[in-house]
Amino acid sequence: MAKDSGIVFNIQKFSVNDGPGIRTVVFLKGCPLRCRWCANPESQLVRAEILWDEKKCIGCHHCIEVCPHQAVSLKDGKITVDSSKCDGCGKCFHECPGKALKNEGELKTIQEVMDVVMQDLPFYEESGGGITLSGAEMLAQPEFAIQLLRAAKENGLHTCCETTGFARQEVFASVIENLDTILFDVKHWNSDKHKDGTAVGNELILANLKYAIGQGKDVLPRIPVIPGFNDSMEDAVNLARIIKDAGGTRCQLLPFHQFGENKYDQLGREYAYKDVTAYHREDLEDYRHVFIENGIEAFF
Ligand code: SF4
Ligand code: SF4
Repeated sequence: MAKDSGIVFNIQKFSVNDGPGIRTVVFLKGCPLRCRWCANPESQLVRAEILWDEKKCIGCHHCIEVCPHQAVSLKDGKITVDSSKCDGCGKCFHECPGKALKNEGELKTIQEVMDVVMQDLPFYEESGGGITLSGAEMLAQPEFAIQLLRAAKENGLHTCCETTGFARQEVFASVIENLDTILFDVKHWNSDKHKDGTAVGNELILANLKYAIGQGKDVLPRIPVIPGFNDSMEDAVNLARIIKDAGGTRCQLLPFHQFGENKYDQLGREYAYKDVTAYHREDLEDYRHVFIENGIEAFF
């Protein structure tokens, strides 16, 4: 992949929840974490992935016949795509008569992305908005993220990202150089438990959180509150402590939801949180107050 291009799985305009003002959010594919509750499982690999919609499928099996790499097969009556064999040629989804297959992820150049982003310049100027890099995890395509943020800065845009913070510190430092605001996920205070839930420990993440705050960046730690993972009062006390240790004074709480469930079905994967009830703000008021009592301004 050339450095001036990357795999993008969505560009969303008029976002008001991903940084200040009105923003265009560019979703980059690929993530080094495997959070068990991930709402965008189709975004985790740094390559195109094929989703299958059972309701639209007419069962002709044409996709199996046309795939030149035998990546498509039938398992337990469901169409399954082995993404390690797929090269994204597009035959299956272009030729599917039921339009039951769609691909997630497309190779785009910096120029192609910026052409879309710059269409809304008047809205950014009016609202104090700009561009937000999101994912999956923008740090999975660091060169592309750096070039994109530089291009945004050259065009005078405010820059923001949503990140897990999981990258070697020199990589993280060069990406955040061109960022104004960082929405930084903090998932667990205990590294072993962090690894249980996300497949990686939290050491690099906490070091990068401290680094970003120390660089004087506008950093907002955000905690996805996940049932049975980090939702106890002990978790709240310790999460407040690690934010304070990193130099933070505030955090945003993101109550667990099940928005990604349908996508797990379409990818032929199990969803670990299938029968787990979503949280609402009112369920987490006591939890939020623990942060406040421990010196961290917590809000939803
Ligand atoms: S080609 Fe489309 S409609 Fe036919 S089996 Fe494959 S997914 Fe289903
Ligand atoms: S995109 Fe091409 S290689 Fe991938 S599953 Fe479809 S037909 Fe096979």
